[in-house]
Amino acid sequence: MGPKMRMTTVTSVTELSPHMKRIIVSGDDLKDFPEDKKSAHVKAIFPDPNSAHKTPKLGLYFGFKKWMRSYTVREFNKERLELTLDFAVNDHKGLATNWAVQAKPGDKLGIAGPGEPKHTNLQEDNHLFFGDITALPAIAATLEQLPASAKGKAWIQVPTELDKQSFIAPKDIEINWLVTPNKLTDKFLNAFAAEPEDLMHTAIFIATEMSIVKQLKQHLQTHCNYDKKKLYASAYWDMKK
Ligand SMILES: Cc1cc2nc3c(=O)[nH]c(=O)nc-3n(C[C@H](O)[C@H](O)[C@H](O)COP(=O)(O)OP(=O)(O)OC[C@H]3O[C@@H](n4cnc5c(N)ncnc54)[C@H](O)[C@@H]3O)c2cc1C
Repeated sequence: MGPKMRMTTVTSVTELSPHMKRIIVSGDDLKDFPEDKKSAHVKAIFPDPNSAHKTPKLGLYFGFKKWMRSYTVREFNKERLELTLDFAVNDHKGLATNWAVQAKPGDKLGIAGPGEPKHTNLQEDNHLFFGDITALPAIAATLEQLPASAKGKAWIQVPTELDKQSFIAPKDIEINWLVTPNKLTDKFLNAFAAEPEDLMHTAIFIATEMSIVKQLKQHLQTHCNYDKKKLYASAYWDMKK
């Protein structure tokens, strides 16, 4: 049996910042959507932009993956059956981004999943987060779930000052905004290199463009003592694709 697929309808579209759109989808199909998956990803299923009816086709048919992209569960409100997804709208064109740019209430979106939350351990002694704007929803959703006593640092790349967001985070988690339109910035690596080499008691979250993820993992492997079980590292997109 494949993943459960649900049909939803857009109920609201908000411009959170110049490069981020918040889209809330709702519908009866979300009745059994699990409540504890904030920060996990779903596969959003988009309609063929060239089809007349603009409704995504659900199901496991030949080529179905072409219409799917990964997005993070920013919030899920069980009472209202509302799922909140934040879409980075950068300068690139793509099925998901083009859809988000034009989305309006009443539009249909398919949802498969969710997967599991990404951060390896909310209770770890120390936390490090590295992510670009596509990982901002996952980082914010995770920070909101850490215990108030949590310690650590987050580095988040956004294209402009106006793309900084406020969210709830423990007071001893230092948030560092890397404001640059350069999505392949070396500021992540510089920040990582300035951290202590002993990371055995640190939960590490890395989610950005593939080559940057590779760079940061290489730094970890060559310079740090760390516990593989406490590392989440994932390419959220690939410049070479
Ligand atoms: C687990 C997971 C969770 C994710 N959660 C989110 C989320 O909550 N919000 C979010 O915005 N994204 C998220 N992403 C990233 C998102 O899935 C990708 O950015 C996706 O490729 C966008 O699809 P698209 O159809 O717009 O572009 P595609 O059709 O996939 O790609 C088209 C072109 O655009 C380039 N491209 C793709 N994304 C970007 C980008 N961000 N900046 C510049 N160029 C890009 C590709 O390299 C390609 O050349 C997540 C990814 C993963 C793996």
